[in-house]
Formats: sequence, C-alpha cells, structure tokens
Amino acid sequence: FLMAYEPAKRLSRMRVIIESSMVGIKMMYDLLDQPMTMVEDPAAVQLKDGPGAVRLEDVHFAYNEQTAVVNGVTADFPAGKTTALVGPSGGGKSTLLNLILRLYDPDTGRVLIDGQDIAKATFASLRSKIAFVGQDTFLFSATVMDNLRLARPDATEDEVIEAAKIAHAHEFIEKLPNGYQTQIGENGSFLSGGQRQRLSIARAVLRRAPILLLDEATSALDSHSEVLVRDALARITEGVTTIVIAHRLSTVMNADCICYVEAGQILEQGSVEELLARGGRFKALHDVQFGGGQAMTGS
Ligand code: ADP
Ligand code: MG
Repeated sequence: FLMAYEPAKRLSRMRVIIESSMVGIKMMYDLLDQPMTMVEDPAAVQLKDGPGAVRLEDVHFAYNEQTAVVNGVTADFPAGKTTALVGPSGGGKSTLLNLILRLYDPDTGRVLIDGQDIAKATFASLRSKIAFVGQDTFLFSATVMDNLRLARPDATEDEVIEAAKIAHAHEFIEKLPNGYQTQIGENGSFLSGGQRQRLSIARAVLRRAPILLLDEATSALDSHSEVLVRDALARITEGVTTIVIAHRLSTVMNADCICYVEAGQILEQGSVEELLARGGRFKALHDVQFGGGQAMTGS
C-alpha cells in the first residue's frame, strides 16, 4: 500500500518543483508580457559577484527592421545609486530595461554588469543579479506564501514574512481569510493594485539582488497604498543599483542621477541640480509637468 502511494507522492512533489522552477523562469518574461525569444549560449558563464554596476555601451536596437528604438545609447548606472529614466512616452525607457533584463539582445553594442557582457552569461546568474518590479504583478493560483516564495524557493517562512513586512504587505496579508495560506486566483483579482505591487516588492526583497529595475505605476494607487509603496521602495533601493522609470515627482527628485530619454537616445544625463541648471529638456519637462506640483505622467 505504502509502496504504491510513494511514487504518486514523489510524482506530485516533482510536479511542484517543476512548476515552481518553470514559473520562476517564465516570471521574468511573463512579467513584461513578452515572448521568450532568447536562447542561452552553450558556452555561457556565470556572472561573477560584484557591486552591481550596469553599463550600456553604444547600444543600438530595433524590435523590427523598420524602426530603430534605441539609437546609440551609452550610459553608466553606478553601483548602489538610483537613476531615474524620464522622457516622453515611446522614447525607449522600457526598452532599455528590457535589454538589461535580456529579454532582447542589442543589434550592436553591449550591456555589461560589473564589466561582464550579459550576452555571455547564463540566464540563471543574470536572473540572480536583477530584481524587477513592474506595473503588473504576476500571480499564480497558489497561496500567498507560495506566490512570494517564487522569488526564492528555498526561503523559510520567517524570511518570507520578514520580506512582506519590509514591503508593507504583511499588514494586509494577515487580514486575509487564511493569512499567508490564503489561495490567490490566477490574477489575484481580489487584491488591489497597491497590494499586488507590495507583493511584487516583497518578492524583490526576497531576491536580494544587487540590481533593481523598477517601472513605476502610472495608474493612481489609492493614497494609502501609494504612501506604503513609496516607503517600501525607499527601503529596498537603499544601497542597491536602481534604475527606475519615473512617473512620480518624488522619485525623480530623490534620484542620484537622471537620464532624459527621447527617440531612443539619452539626451541629458546628470543630477537633478545639474539638469535644472542646464536649462534643457529636463528643465522644460520639469517646468511644464512639475510646475503645478504635480507628478509626471506618461509611460
Ligand atoms: P517608453 O517606455 O519610453 O514609453 P518603450 O520602450 O515602451 O518607450 O517604446 C519605445 C518604442 O518601441 C515605441 O515606439 C514602442 O511602440 C516600441 N515598442 C515597444 N515594445 C515593443 C515591442 N515589444 N515590439 C515592437 N515595438 C515595441
Ligand atoms: Mg514604458
């Protein structure tokens, strides 16, 4: 009886492992709702550990032959600092993050992490370096605990709860009918946008990655959530190389460095003070959009 039961149990355990690693791999791609087109080079090597400096080196990229989207971008994102990408919608900001996540390879030029070309790195080691928090949070049919643990399958319950506390998710999770054991449906439809985003931030905390890519929410979060999300992000960007597509005034003003991206080029790069003093595009954007004390909008 036991003998017959064992393989079935083992099989179901295997299914869980396969499912969770599949989801882990898929997550990075599904998060952006884009097809997984990359193939790992058989000679790929592990990225060596380092402080997490990101460099784009004369990067050119087009999704299709007709339209160039990135037109020769060279930029350094210093380790441990926060760089905000700003500029008009369609300028190429999300595409730059896609290239750093290696959802696509540049047509020419390179993306480097601590001086190492990511095109030559294993997907696993690249993934271990980068956490991504986007506008959508990918949730699957499982408990809150398992949804969070996706980010680090070997995390203990205590570690998951600690991450949820940092992300300001613990408070609302505890109020769910079964707390961390509450089942979330395919899309977590009963959770608010702000709650889903805090789950995403908790995952980023669990990842403990030296690089954080952030696409801030454009849609208004309820004001309570917005305060909590902002506070959680301030906590997790500390000492981490952060590249954020900034929509909020607070993010732009707090960033160490600004890159003004338009038509696939970085037209201006510097601190807020430098760019305001320069009186160029960032200053114009600032005056138009921040003049009334309002946050930036766009995508
Ligand atoms: P931003 O984030 O600054 O708004 P994006 O990087 O999203 O800009 O888009 C830059 C350009 O690339 C736009 O013209 C957009 O339509 C195009 N684009 C974005 N994603 C894709 C895609 N997956 N396939 C084809 N074109 C795309
Ligand atoms: Mg975008």
